Amino acid sequence: MTAEIISGKEIAQQIIKEELKPQVELLNKKSIQPKLVVVFVGENPASQSYIRQKEKFAEQSGVISEVRRFPDTILEAELLAEIDNINNDDSIHGVIVQLPLPEGIDVDRVINAISTNKDVDGFTDVNNKNLDTREALLAPCTPKGIITMLDKTKVDIKGKEAVVMGRSRIVGRPVSEMLRFRGANVTVLHSKSTDEERSSALKKADILVVAVGKQELVHGESLRSGVVIVDVGIHRKEDGKLCGDVHFDSCSTVASKITPVPGGVGPMTVVTLIANTIKAAKLS
Ligand code: NAP
Repeated sequence: MTAEIISGKEIAQQIIKEELKPQVELLNKKSIQPKLVVVFVGENPASQSYIRQKEKFAEQSGVISEVRRFPDTILEAELLAEIDNINNDDSIHGVIVQLPLPEGIDVDRVINAISTNKDVDGFTDVNNKNLDTREALLAPCTPKGIITMLDKTKVDIKGKEAVVMGRSRIVGRPVSEMLRFRGANVTVLHSKSTDEERSSALKKADILVVAVGKQELVHGESLRSGVVIVDVGIHRKEDGKLCGDVHFDSCSTVASKITPVPGGVGPMTVVTLIANTIKAAKLS
Protein backbone atom coordinates (compact mmCIF):
# COMPACT_ATOMS: atom_id res chain seq x y z
CA MET A 1 0.00 0.00 0.00
CA THR A 2 1.23 3.51 -0.78
CA ALA A 3 -0.44 6.11 1.39
CA GLU A 4 -2.25 9.14 0.05
CA ILE A 5 -0.46 12.26 1.27
CA ILE A 6 -2.70 14.64 3.23
CA SER A 7 -1.27 18.01 2.26
CA GLY A 8 -1.97 20.47 5.06
CA LYS A 9 -0.26 23.08 2.92
CA GLU A 10 -2.82 22.69 0.11
CA ILE A 11 -5.82 22.38 2.44
CA ALA A 12 -4.75 25.55 4.29
CA GLN A 13 -4.46 27.50 1.03
CA GLN A 14 -7.87 26.25 -0.07
CA ILE A 15 -9.40 27.34 3.27
CA ILE A 16 -7.80 30.80 2.95
CA LYS A 17 -9.09 31.27 -0.58
CA GLU A 18 -12.57 29.76 -0.29
CA GLU A 19 -13.49 30.51 3.33
CA LEU A 20 -11.30 33.06 5.12
CA LYS A 21 -10.84 35.74 2.45
CA PRO A 22 -14.59 35.89 1.65
CA GLN A 23 -15.40 36.10 5.39
CA VAL A 24 -12.96 39.00 5.83
CA GLU A 25 -14.44 40.78 2.79
CA LEU A 26 -17.89 40.53 4.37
CA LEU A 27 -16.54 41.91 7.66
CA ASN A 28 -14.80 44.76 5.80
CA LYS A 29 -18.17 45.72 4.29
CA LYS A 30 -19.40 46.17 7.87
CA SER A 31 -16.28 48.29 8.58
CA ILE A 32 -14.70 45.55 10.69
CA GLN A 33 -11.02 44.87 10.00
CA PRO A 34 -9.88 41.66 11.80
CA LYS A 35 -6.60 42.19 13.59
CA LEU A 36 -4.19 39.78 15.28
CA VAL A 37 -1.42 40.82 17.68
CA VAL A 38 1.51 38.49 18.33
CA VAL A 39 3.37 39.18 21.58
CA PHE A 40 6.96 38.03 21.07
CA VAL A 41 9.46 38.03 23.91
CA GLY A 42 13.15 37.40 23.16
CA GLU A 43 14.70 36.26 19.88
CA ASN A 44 14.13 32.52 19.57
CA PRO A 45 14.89 31.76 15.87
CA ALA A 46 12.27 28.96 15.59
CA SER A 47 9.65 31.35 16.99
CA GLN A 48 10.67 34.00 14.43
CA SER A 49 10.04 31.57 11.59
CA TYR A 50 6.65 30.46 13.03
CA ILE A 51 5.68 34.14 13.35
CA ARG A 52 6.60 34.80 9.71
CA GLN A 53 4.20 32.05 8.62
CA LYS A 54 1.45 33.55 10.78
CA GLU A 55 2.04 36.97 9.20
CA LYS A 56 1.95 35.43 5.72
CA PHE A 57 -1.34 33.55 6.24
CA ALA A 58 -2.87 36.63 7.89
CA GLU A 59 -1.94 38.80 4.92
CA GLN A 60 -3.25 36.23 2.41
CA SER A 61 -6.59 36.21 4.29
CA GLY A 62 -6.84 40.00 4.61
CA VAL A 63 -6.26 39.96 8.38
CA ILE A 64 -4.01 42.66 9.83
CA SER A 65 -1.19 41.30 11.96
CA GLU A 66 1.14 43.16 14.26
CA VAL A 67 4.11 41.71 16.12
CA ARG A 68 4.89 43.42 19.43
CA ARG A 69 8.47 42.60 20.36
CA PHE A 70 9.90 42.71 23.89
CA PRO A 71 13.36 41.95 25.27
CA ASP A 72 13.78 38.76 27.29
CA THR A 73 14.49 40.96 30.32
CA ILE A 74 10.82 42.02 30.44
CA LEU A 75 9.19 41.51 33.84
CA GLU A 76 6.08 39.37 34.18
CA ALA A 77 4.16 42.38 35.52
CA GLU A 78 5.09 44.42 32.42
CA LEU A 79 3.93 41.60 30.15
CA LEU A 80 0.65 41.31 32.06
CA ALA A 81 0.14 45.07 31.71
CA GLU A 82 0.70 44.79 27.93
CA ILE A 83 -1.90 42.01 27.71
CA ASP A 84 -4.32 44.12 29.71
CA ASN A 85 -3.85 46.97 27.20
CA ILE A 86 -4.54 44.61 24.31
CA ASN A 87 -7.61 43.16 26.06
CA ASN A 88 -8.99 46.69 26.31
CA ASP A 89 -8.19 47.72 22.73
CA ASP A 90 -11.34 47.22 20.62
CA SER A 91 -9.38 47.38 17.35
CA ILE A 92 -7.60 44.10 18.27
CA HIS A 93 -9.63 40.88 17.91
CA GLY A 94 -7.04 38.20 18.63
CA VAL A 95 -3.84 37.99 20.64
CA ILE A 96 -1.30 35.23 21.06
CA VAL A 97 1.79 35.06 23.22
CA GLN A 98 4.48 33.28 21.23
CA LEU A 99 5.91 30.43 23.32
CA PRO A 100 8.36 29.64 24.81
CA LEU A 101 8.65 32.53 27.26
CA PRO A 102 11.90 33.20 29.13
CA GLU A 103 12.47 31.43 32.44
CA GLY A 104 11.04 33.21 35.45
CA ILE A 105 7.78 34.14 33.72
CA ASP A 106 4.74 32.11 34.72
CA VAL A 107 3.37 30.95 31.36
CA ASP A 108 -0.01 29.85 32.74
CA ARG A 109 -0.55 33.22 34.42
CA VAL A 110 0.35 35.14 31.25
CA ILE A 111 -1.82 32.96 28.98
CA ASN A 112 -4.79 33.09 31.33
CA ALA A 113 -4.54 36.89 31.44
CA ILE A 114 -5.68 36.93 27.79
CA SER A 115 -9.37 37.69 27.45
CA THR A 116 -11.22 34.48 26.53
CA ASN A 117 -12.81 36.23 23.52
CA LYS A 118 -9.38 37.20 22.15
CA ASP A 119 -7.59 33.93 22.97
CA VAL A 120 -7.16 32.82 19.34
CA ASP A 121 -4.55 30.18 20.26
CA GLY A 122 -7.25 28.57 22.42
CA PHE A 123 -4.77 28.09 25.25
CA THR A 124 -6.63 29.69 28.17
CA ASP A 125 -8.15 27.26 30.65
CA VAL A 126 -11.67 28.27 29.60
CA ASN A 127 -11.10 27.54 25.89
CA ASN A 128 -8.88 24.47 26.38
CA LYS A 129 -11.03 22.51 28.85
CA ASN A 130 -13.73 19.83 28.57
CA LEU A 131 -13.37 19.49 24.81
CA ASP A 132 -14.76 15.95 25.04
CA THR A 133 -18.16 17.36 25.97
CA ARG A 134 -18.38 20.62 24.00
CA GLU A 135 -17.12 22.56 20.98
CA ALA A 136 -14.88 25.44 22.13
CA LEU A 137 -15.67 28.97 21.01
CA LEU A 138 -12.00 29.47 20.12
CA ALA A 139 -10.54 25.98 19.97
CA PRO A 140 -6.81 25.22 20.41
CA CYS A 141 -5.28 25.53 16.93
CA THR A 142 -3.23 22.37 16.38
CA PRO A 143 -5.95 19.96 17.58
CA LYS A 144 -8.69 21.86 15.73
CA GLY A 145 -6.48 22.00 12.60
CA ILE A 146 -6.05 18.21 12.78
CA ILE A 147 -9.82 17.63 12.99
CA THR A 148 -10.40 20.02 10.06
CA MET A 149 -7.77 18.16 8.06
CA LEU A 150 -9.47 14.80 8.72
CA ASP A 151 -12.86 16.29 7.78
CA LYS A 152 -11.54 17.85 4.56
CA THR A 153 -10.03 14.53 3.48
CA LYS A 154 -13.26 12.70 4.37
CA VAL A 155 -11.78 10.53 7.10
CA ASP A 156 -14.63 9.11 9.21
CA ILE A 157 -14.05 9.68 12.91
CA LYS A 158 -17.28 8.40 14.45
CA GLY A 159 -16.99 4.83 15.70
CA LYS A 160 -13.31 4.53 14.73
CA GLU A 161 -10.43 3.39 16.92
CA ALA A 162 -8.25 6.48 17.42
CA VAL A 163 -4.89 6.32 19.16
CA VAL A 164 -3.21 9.52 20.34
CA MET A 165 0.44 9.33 21.34
CA GLY A 166 1.15 12.19 23.75
CA ARG A 167 -1.05 13.94 26.30
CA SER A 168 0.36 17.48 26.37
CA ARG A 169 -1.88 20.39 27.27
CA ILE A 170 -1.61 22.00 23.83
CA VAL A 171 -1.82 18.98 21.50
CA GLY A 172 -2.25 15.44 22.84
CA ARG A 173 -4.93 15.99 25.47
CA PRO A 174 -7.17 18.38 23.50
CA VAL A 175 -6.97 16.35 20.28
CA SER A 176 -7.91 13.17 22.15
CA GLU A 177 -10.87 15.01 23.70
CA MET A 178 -11.98 16.37 20.31
CA LEU A 179 -11.77 12.91 18.73
CA ARG A 180 -13.84 11.53 21.62
CA PHE A 181 -16.39 14.36 21.18
CA ARG A 182 -16.65 13.34 17.50
CA GLY A 183 -17.47 9.76 18.49
CA ALA A 184 -14.12 7.96 18.19
CA ASN A 185 -13.07 5.32 20.69
CA VAL A 186 -9.85 6.96 21.89
CA THR A 187 -6.77 5.38 23.48
CA VAL A 188 -4.08 7.75 24.80
CA LEU A 189 -0.47 6.60 25.02
CA HIS A 190 2.15 8.48 27.04
CA SER A 191 5.64 8.11 28.44
CA LYS A 192 4.45 5.70 31.16
CA SER A 193 2.56 3.37 28.80
CA THR A 194 4.06 -0.13 28.74
CA ASP A 195 5.47 -1.68 25.55
CA GLU A 196 2.53 -4.08 25.55
CA GLU A 197 -0.03 -1.26 25.88
CA ARG A 198 1.70 0.61 23.06
CA SER A 199 1.92 -2.32 20.67
CA SER A 200 -1.64 -3.53 21.21
CA ALA A 201 -3.05 0.01 20.78
CA LEU A 202 -1.05 0.68 17.61
CA LYS A 203 -2.12 -2.64 16.06
CA LYS A 204 -5.81 -1.69 16.29
CA ALA A 205 -5.61 2.03 15.36
CA ASP A 206 -7.76 3.28 12.46
CA ILE A 207 -6.53 6.83 13.14
CA LEU A 208 -3.16 7.55 14.75
CA VAL A 209 -2.12 11.01 15.95
CA VAL A 210 1.50 11.24 17.07
CA ALA A 211 2.49 14.24 19.23
CA VAL A 212 5.42 13.02 21.25
CA GLY A 213 8.39 15.17 20.25
CA LYS A 214 10.71 12.22 19.44
CA GLN A 215 12.23 12.05 15.99
CA GLU A 216 10.87 9.20 13.79
CA LEU A 217 9.69 7.20 16.82
CA VAL A 218 6.86 5.33 15.09
CA HIS A 219 7.72 2.76 12.42
CA GLY A 220 5.40 1.06 9.94
CA GLU A 221 5.93 -2.50 11.27
CA SER A 222 4.04 -1.62 14.46
CA LEU A 223 0.90 -0.39 12.66
CA ARG A 224 -2.32 -1.81 11.28
CA SER A 225 -2.58 -1.76 7.50
CA GLY A 226 -4.80 1.09 6.27
CA VAL A 227 -4.32 3.37 9.30
CA VAL A 228 -4.63 7.16 8.82
CA ILE A 229 -1.55 8.84 10.33
CA VAL A 230 -1.31 12.43 11.56
CA ASP A 231 2.26 13.39 12.44
CA VAL A 232 2.47 16.45 14.69
CA GLY A 233 6.19 16.34 15.55
CA ILE A 234 8.74 18.64 13.94
CA HIS A 235 12.47 17.96 14.09
CA ARG A 236 15.51 19.07 12.15
CA LYS A 237 17.71 16.14 11.19
CA GLU A 238 21.51 16.24 11.08
CA ASP A 239 21.40 16.68 7.29
CA GLY A 240 19.26 19.83 7.84
CA LYS A 241 16.01 18.29 6.56
CA LEU A 242 12.80 18.38 8.60
CA CYS A 243 11.07 15.23 9.81
CA GLY A 244 8.33 14.26 12.23
CA ASP A 245 7.65 11.84 15.07
CA VAL A 246 6.78 9.25 12.42
CA HIS A 247 9.25 7.38 10.22
CA PHE A 248 7.66 8.48 6.96
CA ASP A 249 9.12 5.91 4.54
CA SER A 250 8.13 2.81 6.51
CA CYS A 251 4.75 4.23 7.64
CA SER A 252 3.67 5.41 4.21
CA THR A 253 3.80 1.84 2.88
CA VAL A 254 1.33 0.69 5.57
CA ALA A 255 -1.00 3.68 5.98
CA SER A 256 -3.93 4.61 3.75
CA LYS A 257 -3.32 8.35 4.40
CA ILE A 258 -0.46 10.21 6.04
CA THR A 259 0.49 13.81 6.76
CA PRO A 260 4.00 14.88 5.69
CA VAL A 261 6.51 16.98 7.65
CA PRO A 262 6.83 19.75 6.61
CA GLY A 263 3.56 20.69 4.92
CA GLY A 264 1.17 18.67 7.10
CA VAL A 265 -0.06 19.75 10.54
CA GLY A 266 2.03 22.97 10.67
CA PRO A 267 0.05 24.96 8.05
CA MET A 268 -3.23 23.64 9.53
CA THR A 269 -2.25 25.07 12.92
CA VAL A 270 -1.57 28.48 11.40
CA VAL A 271 -4.70 28.59 9.23
CA THR A 272 -6.78 27.70 12.31
CA LEU A 273 -5.20 30.61 14.18
CA ILE A 274 -6.28 32.99 11.40
CA ALA A 275 -9.75 31.39 11.27
CA ASN A 276 -10.04 31.92 15.05
CA THR A 277 -9.05 35.59 14.64
CA ILE A 278 -11.81 36.09 12.08
CA LYS A 279 -14.28 34.26 14.35
CA ALA A 280 -13.24 36.53 17.25
CA ALA A 281 -13.77 39.59 15.03
CA LYS A 282 -17.26 38.35 14.11
CA LEU A 283 -18.10 37.85 17.77
CA SER A 284 -16.74 41.23 18.87
P1 NAP B 1 5.32 17.73 24.96
O1 NAP B 1 4.62 18.79 25.74
O2 NAP B 1 6.78 17.48 25.20
O3 NAP B 1 4.54 16.37 25.22
C1 NAP B 1 5.00 15.15 24.75
C2 NAP B 1 4.03 14.06 25.13
O4 NAP B 1 4.52 12.83 24.60
C3 NAP B 1 3.90 13.86 26.66
O5 NAP B 1 2.54 13.72 27.00
C4 NAP B 1 4.65 12.56 26.93
O6 NAP B 1 4.11 11.78 27.96
C5 NAP B 1 4.46 11.84 25.61
N1 NAP B 1 5.48 10.81 25.35
C6 NAP B 1 6.81 10.88 25.55
N2 NAP B 1 7.40 9.74 25.13
C7 NAP B 1 6.41 8.95 24.67
C8 NAP B 1 6.37 7.65 24.09
N3 NAP B 1 7.49 6.91 23.92
N4 NAP B 1 5.18 7.13 23.72
C9 NAP B 1 4.03 7.85 23.88
N5 NAP B 1 4.01 9.10 24.40
C10 NAP B 1 5.18 9.63 24.79
O7 NAP B 1 5.17 17.97 23.40
P2 NAP B 1 4.04 18.73 22.52
O8 NAP B 1 4.03 20.17 22.83
O9 NAP B 1 2.75 17.98 22.57
O10 NAP B 1 4.67 18.57 21.06
C11 NAP B 1 4.92 17.30 20.49
C12 NAP B 1 5.62 17.50 19.15
O11 NAP B 1 4.76 18.23 18.29
C13 NAP B 1 6.92 18.34 19.20
O12 NAP B 1 7.83 17.83 18.23
C14 NAP B 1 6.47 19.73 18.82
O13 NAP B 1 7.51 20.48 18.24
C15 NAP B 1 5.41 19.41 17.81
N6 NAP B 1 4.35 20.43 17.64
C16 NAP B 1 3.99 20.75 16.38
C17 NAP B 1 2.97 21.66 16.15
C18 NAP B 1 2.57 21.97 14.75
O14 NAP B 1 1.81 22.90 14.52
N7 NAP B 1 3.02 21.19 13.77
C19 NAP B 1 2.32 22.27 17.22
C20 NAP B 1 2.68 21.91 18.53
C21 NAP B 1 3.70 20.97 18.73
P3 NAP B 1 4.04 12.26 29.52
O15 NAP B 1 2.82 13.12 29.61
O16 NAP B 1 3.91 10.97 30.27
O17 NAP B 1 5.32 13.00 29.80
